[in-house]
Amino acid sequence: MVTPRTLTGTPVVPGVAHGPAVLVRAEVSPEAIAAFDTTELDETGALEAFDTAAAAVADGYEHRAATSSGAAAQVLTATAGLARDRGLRSAVRRQLRAGDDLLDALHAAVEHFAEMLTGMGGLMAERVTDLRDIERRVLARLVGEPEPGAPEPDEPSILLAEDLSPADTAGLDPARVLGLATRRGGPTSHTAIIARQLGIPCVVGVAGADEVEAGTDVLLDGASGELSIAPDPDRARTLAAEDAERRRALESWTGPGATADGRGVELLANVADASSAGSAASGPVEGVGLFRTELCFLNRSDEPAVEEQTDIYAAVLEPWSEGQHVVVRTLDAGSDKPLAFAGHDSEENPALGVRGLRLSFDNPGLLERQLDAVAAAAERTGTDTWVMAPMVATVAEAEAFGDAVHSRGLRAGVMIEVPAAALLAPRLLEHVDFLSIGTNDLTQYTMAADRMATDLAHLTDPWQPAVLTLVAATARAGQEAGKPVGVCGEAAADPVLACVLVGLGVTSLSMSDSAVRAVGAQLASVDHAACERAAQAALGTVDPTEARRVALAELRA
Ligand code: PEP
Ligand code: MG
Repeated sequence: MVTPRTLTGTPVVPGVAHGPAVLVRAEVSPEAIAAFDTTELDETGALEAFDTAAAAVADGYEHRAATSSGAAAQVLTATAGLARDRGLRSAVRRQLRAGDDLLDALHAAVEHFAEMLTGMGGLMAERVTDLRDIERRVLARLVGEPEPGAPEPDEPSILLAEDLSPADTAGLDPARVLGLATRRGGPTSHTAIIARQLGIPCVVGVAGADEVEAGTDVLLDGASGELSIAPDPDRARTLAAEDAERRRALESWTGPGATADGRGVELLANVADASSAGSAASGPVEGVGLFRTELCFLNRSDEPAVEEQTDIYAAVLEPWSEGQHVVVRTLDAGSDKPLAFAGHDSEENPALGVRGLRLSFDNPGLLERQLDAVAAAAERTGTDTWVMAPMVATVAEAEAFGDAVHSRGLRAGVMIEVPAAALLAPRLLEHVDFLSIGTNDLTQYTMAADRMATDLAHLTDPWQPAVLTLVAATARAGQEAGKPVGVCGEAAADPVLACVLVGLGVTSLSMSDSAVRAVGAQLASVDHAACERAAQAALGTVDPTEARRVALAELRA
């Protein structure tokens, strides 16, 4: 008999899920490894065994890529490519020749690759998680065990894990995985972003999540962050059924964004390229609030010429019509998104280094050429194009950027990602036409907590009252200047937090395509006054858990 209890963590994807717990096995069993006999294998035999196992693992990733889409499919396809990488195979062969047995050779080759990727930093360093996932899977196949990682449950279940690799999360089937809780991970981790795309209710940073016994009945609430172990079965069934009904209702929400009493809130999409812009344009959004231009160039070694940049930007501007606008963000290279042609090598603290607008300090031509290309694309397509700079910290930066954009006949804005910018928002607005709050970085810099750190999930949470206080100050500056202030960080995709942001006075919310209906439907269910009450209540709390609780209570009152 399991003792009923409730664990809590950081909620990232709202929704209620009820079902048996399935535990994700992270490692291959030591007994199987110890029993594996390599004495019979010569170098050729060992390499053949590696080839067979690596190919089967790559096939597995590709199979899951074929049954998923968007970011999930991209992660899986890239990981399949890594499993088939000839460099990895050569490293295994080298180790075998040096006298290692097969399992030691595999481990040493993976370590060698991991070191190389870590040295490259940023997104490449994040691939190390994928590489280690490949190692576990190849190892399991070699010793004759099923591949570890997220299983495909036979019946609809709730997955509980210490952490999930991006590839694990990307391959989840929402029909069988009703909910997801991990002990590690933060609100901007891969797990959170992909779970949001798949629409699977998800809570991260739940202490004890991976210690629940497999098969135990659990209830997960992705809005409150609660994981109830052995809940009252009738109550759990009712809550899950009500939530399923609420989610069905979302499908019929078609926009435009407004509160129940008709206060308009512009809902916009975050896009990365022409394909994501195309699919967003067919949905219920009024434009693009964040086009992350750096994502178009992650694999480029040289800066693309103005003409090529113009074509790329024009393809993103093209799908939008009269009355809609697109906010293009200038290159936010550096830190977690390194670009070969715009980087600063070996910084001690890349997140506090030369990233975003700062790249133009000693390379002004890079920004000038990008602005020329954006202006040419706007001219060609006739789309209402706004341009904003990331990582602005001073009034002088806002003034120089505003002048450069205005001289090309476009609307200029800056992102509020650094507390200094939030504090000086009224003065920034003397030089630009709009502000856009990047809550991912604003949270990181306000709380002095690395947004990628899985152990700091409670700090890298945009519900932190200090972050909400800076959002409130920025929104107030916009209201006083009569200029729009939006939010384009992940916070805008959380339906409850979206209401709080509106209550704080932001005028638009920009988010991944898949989050728009949930946010739109939630806003449509509450009056503006309730959003304001929820915002005031959240501002007065001492931590994110309390902030969420009081805001929800005001919205449901
Ligand atoms: C942010 O920091 O909130 C943001 C939208 O920018 P990015 O996530 O691309 O750093
Ligand atoms: Mg940012």
